[in-house]
Amino acid sequence: MNRRNLLKAFTGLCFPLYQPASAAETHWDYKGDDPQHWSELSAEYQSCSAGVSQSPINLDHGIKASLPQLEIDYGDNFTSVENNGHTVLVTAGKGNQLVVDGERYNLVQCHFHHPSEHLLKGARFPLECHFVHRLPDDEIAVIGVLMKEGRRNDVFEQILRLAPKTPGKMAEIPGGHLAIKNLLPATFHYIRYSGSLTTPPCSEAVNWMVLIEPVEISAEQIARFAALYPDNARPIQPLHHRPILED
Ligand SMILES: [Zn+2]
Repeated sequence: MNRRNLLKAFTGLCFPLYQPASAAETHWDYKGDDPQHWSELSAEYQSCSAGVSQSPINLDHGIKASLPQLEIDYGDNFTSVENNGHTVLVTAGKGNQLVVDGERYNLVQCHFHHPSEHLLKGARFPLECHFVHRLPDDEIAVIGVLMKEGRRNDVFEQILRLAPKTPGKMAEIPGGHLAIKNLLPATFHYIRYSGSLTTPPCSEAVNWMVLIEPVEISAEQIARFAALYPDNARPIQPLHHRPILED
């Protein structure tokens, strides 16, 4: 095999990593094949209607609790910004971790919803960022960060500039560095409950931690995200007597 073919073979091996996340899944959407009908689209999406601990919810009437401190240990190793047809998604490299309950989770990706999916005491925010973490056994923990209108956020600006306009496209992050920490608020007080993925397959047993302090982004930044995704928030789901614990 000459060098050119060798390179080709190698690139071919790597190619699946660069497929849009939505390539293999049954199509779903927020309009048309909308959230009310997700469970009808695929047998794998049954939890979307049959589940009893679904997300998002209205975070209200929380029980005061002394929750374990969140140790958010994010570096700046991030590889790409993707428009996957459902959201703008930033893929994390190695070395971005969350430590909670004595477990060390790896950050896999973060992405955005407009408007916010969770309500905080009945209030909806312009955007919400989800930081999705996994343990090696596939247990999922998500940190939700509510975003309100205020000052421009520089990291969000970098993400918006890189985000492809066309669904299914991906842009590499120059140098592989992104100071994602600047998308976190100053304090990490949070509300915790047991929920699900807010997109198909709506898998349950997701450990949700939504930070109480929002971060600011500008009105112009909100408008630019809304131009890509005017509404990619799943409606509020029934609580079914789940406890909501508040720091
Ligand atoms: Zn999300």
